[in-house]
Amino acid sequence: MMDDSTNPQVQLEPTACPLCGATDATPYRAGRDLHYGVSGLFHLARCRSCRHVYMNPRPTAETVALCYPQQYAPHQSDEATPCESEPAPLARRPWYLSRLVKSVPGLRGLYYWLEDKKAEFIPPILNTEKQALELGCASGDFLIRLREMGWKVNGVELVAEPASRARKRGLAVHTGTLETAAFPDAAFDAVFAWMVVEHLRDPKFTLGEVHRVLKPGGWFVFSVPNFGCWEPHVFRQYWYALDLPRHLHHFTPRSLTNLLSHLGFEQPRFVHQRSLLYVVGSLGFVWQALRPQSPLATRLIRFPDQPSLGVQLALAPFAKLLALMRQGGRLTVVTRRPEAS
Ligand SMILES: [Zn+2]
Repeated sequence: MMDDSTNPQVQLEPTACPLCGATDATPYRAGRDLHYGVSGLFHLARCRSCRHVYMNPRPTAETVALCYPQQYAPHQSDEATPCESEPAPLARRPWYLSRLVKSVPGLRGLYYWLEDKKAEFIPPILNTEKQALELGCASGDFLIRLREMGWKVNGVELVAEPASRARKRGLAVHTGTLETAAFPDAAFDAVFAWMVVEHLRDPKFTLGEVHRVLKPGGWFVFSVPNFGCWEPHVFRQYWYALDLPRHLHHFTPRSLTNLLSHLGFEQPRFVHQRSLLYVVGSLGFVWQALRPQSPLATRLIRFPDQPSLGVQLALAPFAKLLALMRQGGRLTVVTRRPEAS
């Protein structure tokens, strides 16, 4: 994950504030790509008008794909769902669904609690033909789960390789953006976007499109890192979710509320996820700066992608407390297109 591959072709361009259009911004922070080693020093600015923190200058549309190397973790699939042309392997049951675990009172409940399923809110839709769209569906793990729950599913994925893997699993996935997919008005009961909105070049425009393709009363559910919590202020350029040069925006509950209400969505509900994954990963980056080549740093940095149950159990009380204090490092945002719109 931490290879030193350089990528000199990423070109940067100045940009106005993507939320309010103001060009007056102050330098906020500079940092490097600590995740994949895309070369360069990248800068964040804070809009003087609306206080939004965004990457400026940002990668050009022509070179932004170079910021996403082949090993980019969210494009990998960890669920062994067969391609249509391949024989189905025996389904691997997670250990917490095994008969043994089921027989221990409370153990399975504890695991579900740890997994924080509430962070992945699925709206209660009563239609028999419920239609869902996922933005940034990668190779389609979430869409497959939705399909198993009876939804008709569509996906949009910018990167060709994971999109093609998703299609091989029998999913209708458009390679490109929501804009180029050109779905008809009011087509979906729910639109999902897990850790995608912070990557969008023009979030105002794309979320306006989400509003358009939702049926009146339809749900928009997404997650983003929470720039309004304590983590970015303590870890600064080592914050795991800074993720330069891929995260172009750093949203807070306030900036999201303003953006969504401007676009005509209902007042959003924020779920502070019960997770300290970013804290562990950020400690890894700090430790790596102090002790380059440290195996401990490598283990801490890998933890958010491969969390171990024991450590999660140990951290759970702290994660719960921070979520209760509305200081979760990651937010799930739940909103709707109003019925009368
Ligand atoms: Zn602004």
